[in-house]
Amino acid sequence: MAQYPMHINGHAIPGGAHFDVINPSTGGVVGSVPSATDAEVDQAIAAARAAQADWAARPSDDRAALLQRIGDRFEEESERIASLITQEQGKPLSGPGSMFEMEAVVGFTRVPASLDVEPEVVFEDDTRLDVLHYVPLGVVAAIAPWNWPAMIAIWQMMPSIRMGNTVVIKPSEYTPIATLELVAIMNEILPPGVVNIVTGAGDVGARLTSSPDVDKIMFTGSVETGRKVAAAASTSLARLTLELGGNDAAIVLDDVDASAIAEGLFWGAFVNMGQTCACAKRLYVQDAVHDEVVEALVNLANVMPMGDGLDPANVLGPIQNTAQFDKVSALVEDAKKSGATIHCGGVPTGGPGNFYPITVVSGITDGVDLVDVEQFGPVIPVIRVGDEADAIARANASTVALGASVWSSNPERASAVAAQLDAGTVWVNQHGAVHPMVPFGGAKGSGFGLEFGIDGLKSVSQPKVISTAKTG
Ligand code: NAD
Repeated sequence: MAQYPMHINGHAIPGGAHFDVINPSTGGVVGSVPSATDAEVDQAIAAARAAQADWAARPSDDRAALLQRIGDRFEEESERIASLITQEQGKPLSGPGSMFEMEAVVGFTRVPASLDVEPEVVFEDDTRLDVLHYVPLGVVAAIAPWNWPAMIAIWQMMPSIRMGNTVVIKPSEYTPIATLELVAIMNEILPPGVVNIVTGAGDVGARLTSSPDVDKIMFTGSVETGRKVAAAASTSLARLTLELGGNDAAIVLDDVDASAIAEGLFWGAFVNMGQTCACAKRLYVQDAVHDEVVEALVNLANVMPMGDGLDPANVLGPIQNTAQFDKVSALVEDAKKSGATIHCGGVPTGGPGNFYPITVVSGITDGVDLVDVEQFGPVIPVIRVGDEADAIARANASTVALGASVWSSNPERASAVAAQLDAGTVWVNQHGAVHPMVPFGGAKGSGFGLEFGIDGLKSVSQPKVISTAKTG
């Protein structure tokens, strides 16, 4: 069985104790990775610290050119790494799956490489000149989840190193292998210590986030863990970007053509089997189109092949881990008890693998857990609503607010609803459509801080004003 090493200061570190990474489609072992010790985590932070000043001192164009070379290598290795993502995460090679994730890995590498944050003159008169610069923060600790393991690792690492920081990343214990391989490739090109990776469970993450020698934490994961990370950072006062969970509402207005929006809505809810932070997780559908929308989603669910993602015929995979599988199953059972109607799915497919079919549920409303809680799985509650104001009020009645969407054939109506929704992003006639040039981040309990584009680069930088008196 393949063993994948960590990378600290440019060296492959085989580690001591190992744990197995399980393929959720088969229950088999994909490979084994080290459980980092406290000493190894500390060594990784020290390596990042030692490398940082020289890395930051390089001309910005040099760093950009190295990122582009990394992008070239990622392109060359796309198929191999996509196969690893499919094996450890479950998402198929085909459809919006692991090859799609590798395209994003390349895109989210090349775009920050192509951007530069220029100093801004914020004030000038006869007496003074004030210029705002963005300088590196130092060492960035990155902690990633299991749903889009490679893409989210890249979201965290690339802007950080582009701006002259160095990185220690800890991928999810469920999906560390593709990230280990991406960091191995980066270390072919980068100076030692610029990007380091340690693997293990939450205790390894906690060691990183509580270190006094970390300047910035980029955390993507659940709200619950996000709170622990924020508490840990309260001692060091490390800067934080928290990309946490969501329970995105999609509001479907009664002027839509249900068949025309069905595919966008389907993938908006079910990309990666709903295991996506910014998936539509509650649909509020106006009465006049409710039945048509439900039928259109069910029709699509019935023709999408599900199975082992290494088979290119499949576009739907398993739920990534058994804890998540159990959570989704329990939410559906609870919805059934509440009297909800299950239009398709609703019963586990049966092993091997954590397969649970696409499940469309109606006859359900707020107050039932399937609506109120982030399900993070292949099941969508469809809530029948009357007027727009009711839909907006229900959509906003949540402690989390990552994304939201409005579906309408009337641009003015859609904009008016979008303006009233609480969320970091409101999409119109699409959902979850992130882009490397467009800032992305949560509102309310979904966290804070922006990723992507110029704003993403600024959020891994220290704003620094140089204020000069004009004399003579
Ligand atoms: P999780 O919070 O369980 O784990 C995330 C990471 O934190 C893992 O690497 C884990 O090992 C680590 N960790 C656990 N305990 C820790 C601690 N005490 N200190 C530091 N690190 C610790 O989340 P998950 O189950 O892997 O991911 C699913 C969640 O992530 C969902 O809620 C989803 O919505 C959210 N998510 C959000 C975004 C976003 O951009 N907002 C993107 C993807 C996923």
